[in-house]
Amino acid sequence: MELGIHCTLPFSTLRMLANLLGMLSNLKRLVVCIKIPTATTPEKAEWRLLSINNFTSECSQLLHLQELYLESPSFLKDHLHCLFRCFNTSLEVFSLTNCRFRKKILTHVFQSPCISQLKDLCLKGVPLTSVSKCLRSLLEVNASTLQHLDLGLCGLQDPQLEVLLPALSSCSQLRSFSLHGNRLSMATLEKLLSCTSGLSRLKLELYPAPLESFSPQGVLQPATFRLHCTHIIKILKDLRHSRSIVVSTGQCSSCAEKMFRNGEPIILPCKSCVRKFKKLSID
Ligand SMILES: [Zn+2]
Repeated sequence: MELGIHCTLPFSTLRMLANLLGMLSNLKRLVVCIKIPTATTPEKAEWRLLSINNFTSECSQLLHLQELYLESPSFLKDHLHCLFRCFNTSLEVFSLTNCRFRKKILTHVFQSPCISQLKDLCLKGVPLTSVSKCLRSLLEVNASTLQHLDLGLCGLQDPQLEVLLPALSSCSQLRSFSLHGNRLSMATLEKLLSCTSGLSRLKLELYPAPLESFSPQGVLQPATFRLHCTHIIKILKDLRHSRSIVVSTGQCSSCAEKMFRNGEPIILPCKSCVRKFKKLSID
């Protein structure tokens, strides 16, 4: 059984929805894209909190849930760990997108046993700069099962990638991997290409254009970018591993949105960004 909820709800409806969820014990796939208005009075704040607590506790009763998608869940900003605290299921897919969380909350969530056998992990648009060590542990725990990993637009830079590289190279089942929209230097990209070249199942890799392709003001320098692409092709040849990667010069959040849908990875830049993607292949 699947359920997708996409709407703006008043607190009272969230509470009703929570009670309904509690009855859907066979639910396997839950997509939540709910906006809850902020409270304008202390009474409403209390009512809002109660509704959210009700929602998280009912969600955690979904014993057969395999796929959880939380899209821009700003109402769960301070409560996400509560959702995971009493979760009693082992998720195959966990997708959390476009929301900022405190380090403490993400740390709690990443340590949850219910995300220790993931096939798909998508954290697109969630700033992860302060939790790279915790993310590394999460990748290590899921290294033997993880097939799709999306870390696009997570604010990652060279030091965080240094932390993640050993864990990434141990994800032996990985089929698709996105780092689109992060700020990485050519040197780090080079290390990444080398560390992922041992992953024989990896068929789709999406990387940001190296930082050196942009002026100090952040403007793309097309000639420099082309030079870097030539350099990347050379690196791929030196690694002697037939592969094809995609490099993106954009920072768009709609891009590559369908990468992990329907089991098979598909890359789909949004219409306005098609020209910002460059495919580099060697046989
Ligand atoms: Zn786009």
